[in-house]
Amino acid sequence: MEQREQRYEGKAKKVYATDDPAYYIVSYKDDATAFNGEKKGTIASKGIVNNIMSNIIFALIAEEGVPTHFVKQLSDRDTLVKAVTILPLEVIIRNVAAGSFSKRYGVDEGTPLLFPTLEFSYKNDELGDPLINDDHIMALGLATKEELNQVRSYTHKVNEVMKAFFLDKGLKLIDFKIEFGKLADGTIILADEVSPDTCRLWDVNTNEKMDKDRFRRDLGKVEETYQEVLKRVKGE
Ligand code: UDP
Repeated sequence: MEQREQRYEGKAKKVYATDDPAYYIVSYKDDATAFNGEKKGTIASKGIVNNIMSNIIFALIAEEGVPTHFVKQLSDRDTLVKAVTILPLEVIIRNVAAGSFSKRYGVDEGTPLLFPTLEFSYKNDELGDPLINDDHIMALGLATKEELNQVRSYTHKVNEVMKAFFLDKGLKLIDFKIEFGKLADGTIILADEVSPDTCRLWDVNTNEKMDKDRFRRDLGKVEETYQEVLKRVKGE
């Protein structure tokens, strides 16, 4: 497949058209942002970690029955994916309280939640990705009831698959964000990425943060931690 013009540049990835309109090429960058773009930096080789890790996890998720955009890894940073229109929703599952949830509701980080708790944010940088509920989503025509049901059930399945996968690698899945897209025929599939940028992962023995919070909170050993997570994900 031939790479054509750039279609989009986000905070962490570029997306290119190909000679087939049904496929895009995503290219992962080392750029890192936090707090809605207020904090900017780079994490050396992050793009490589996030590309390889996302692909391993997307392949696993697909085996478990949740369709994804992943087609084929082309290089360390580049992957061929199915072209989708991204639903403007960040779908978050929380197993343990952390981050904005802890802040919003005044609960200590690390407090286990009674069940995997799903929330949506409206993907809109200008508005700072505000929390949004099902009625809001349907009232604004961002997704239909059927689409939301599909997204919910896929997301809970992804949580179960990833929780078990990471635990086997000595990592607790605290929370994560995923995004879905629609194929030309309306089918909903998992898209975007799954990486230390988008998941909170704590070492099962030490509770050490093994994710982007090291960058967000200036905890040090950022690059080393991304490499360590990739090593574990690869089973090395
Ligand atoms: N997250 C993300 N992109 C965002 C916001 C959150 O990937 O724009 C991920 C984040 O890494 C964490 C989960 O979603 O794993 C929940 O994040 P939270 O709402 O606690 O926000 P934060 O504390 O990161 O602002």
